[in-house]
Amino acid sequence: MADFRRTDWIRNAAERFAGSVRFIRSGCLKGITIVKERIRFSQHNLGKGHYSKLIVASSAAVLVAVSALIGNYYVEANTKEYYKVYVNGELAGHVSSSDKVEEWLEAKAAELDQANTPVKYVLDTAQVTYEADRKFKPKTDDEGVLAKLEDKVEIYPVGVKIIVNGETVGVVRDHATARELLAKIKNAYVPEESVAAKPAAAASVQSGPRVQTLALSGASPQASAKPERLVESVGFEEKIDLLTVRLDNGQVDDPDELYEKLITGNPEPIQYVVQKGDCISCIAQKLKVSQKFIYEKNPWLEGDKLQIGDVLDLTAWQPMVNVRSVEQVTQLETIEAPVEYQTSDELKVGQTKVIRQGEDGQKLVTYRQIRKNGNVIEEEIVEEHILKEPVSAIILKGTKVVAGEGTGKFAWPVAGHRITSYQGERWGRYHKGIDIIGKSNIMAADNGVVEFAGYKKGGLGNVVIIDHKNGFKTVYAHLKSIKVKKGQVVEKGETIGIMGSTGNSTGVHLHFEVYYNGKLKNPMSYLK
Ligand SMILES: [Zn+2]
Repeated sequence: MADFRRTDWIRNAAERFAGSVRFIRSGCLKGITIVKERIRFSQHNLGKGHYSKLIVASSAAVLVAVSALIGNYYVEANTKEYYKVYVNGELAGHVSSSDKVEEWLEAKAAELDQANTPVKYVLDTAQVTYEADRKFKPKTDDEGVLAKLEDKVEIYPVGVKIIVNGETVGVVRDHATARELLAKIKNAYVPEESVAAKPAAAASVQSGPRVQTLALSGASPQASAKPERLVESVGFEEKIDLLTVRLDNGQVDDPDELYEKLITGNPEPIQYVVQKGDCISCIAQKLKVSQKFIYEKNPWLEGDKLQIGDVLDLTAWQPMVNVRSVEQVTQLETIEAPVEYQTSDELKVGQTKVIRQGEDGQKLVTYRQIRKNGNVIEEEIVEEHILKEPVSAIILKGTKVVAGEGTGKFAWPVAGHRITSYQGERWGRYHKGIDIIGKSNIMAADNGVVEFAGYKKGGLGNVVIIDHKNGFKTVYAHLKSIKVKKGQVVEKGETIGIMGSTGNSTGVHLHFEVYYNGKLKNPMSYLK
């Protein structure tokens, strides 16, 4: 005789009774007869309450037979189906209907399911079995049996295992908690609001969520200045399974701690204390990490400013789950104004003149990106709309060459120069230039034309005066010898004479003066 119970609500009556054989034994009925019957339930009369004809076991006389028939009718009319209910194989009592047990089981399961306990409990339904039986005027006690079930049927804790690539990484209370945790991880890298597919008329490159149409007219570029991020798909790189299991220790993981573990891998923290002479790139090189990594881990860093004793966090995460997303990012970008050069023989070589200021343009670019944990690992441009064409800048470059014209910038006339006397009051007289010693070659301080080359009375001795044709003139005095002639074009740095001590001079040196538009200037203002 098989015990059975409707643990599966879908199972029908046919299955319940299939092949089962029941014995009904009635006791002595009013001393008339003893019926000992065997009733077979077959596929044809399942659950209908039809039985095989009773086979009457005793018959002696017609009267006896008639009375026996009347007795059998009475017995049959009062024989009812009832259920024996067992807990762990032990009889708990009789109930009028299996529905009583099933309803209790369902209600208990629902009560446990809705209980706001830190760990979820379920009923050990396998402990409850029942079987149908028939009996003459059966006595049942629905209330009493259900009370016993309440008392005896055990509950046990369950949890939902999160399994990553076949390996259990943690256990949480239920499926909802697990799904919430996984959604939180996705959301950490891919903002939830961008995942929602937005209806759009714009052509989409990929199937799935479509790209929202952005203002392409350029009428209001400010409206779309913030990058538009639309997610085509987001998922985990790893295979993640959720499995409900019986908890041996009744413990589940804290979802927040599990979140931390899944995204960081709970690595050993690595800290670095900044030492004297450290710099970001030095530390990156020393510890074999990228500078980008250092900045990412330490967002408080400003530029490459480091103080001795600063503590850098250099802990590398080893995520147990990785979020991969495919996204369409549309953003406003600047098109730099190109530069066009034109030449002019009216401008001198080296001179330039801006004829037209350039104007940057604007474009709306849509990228299709593959991201891992929010970082772009692959990117391609799928659409580009120019909102505003750039206007090129036009710059005129001079080509005119003028012989002997100065650049306006002076070089030292003596190599290895050292100044022995500055401009200013000296010995009751005004010293009009500076005195320089160094190597003996005297060089033109800039391009120019020799205006004077010869001996001058009044103290300068052998002197060269160069007109730089730009308002400047320079004077080189006390020369031992002169290497140029009046009217000669000289280049900046060209030797014009040898240092000496001619004229009113104390010792070998160069006396150097500068004039601009005829006015004496301090040479120190032009020599660097
Ligand atoms: Zn002097």
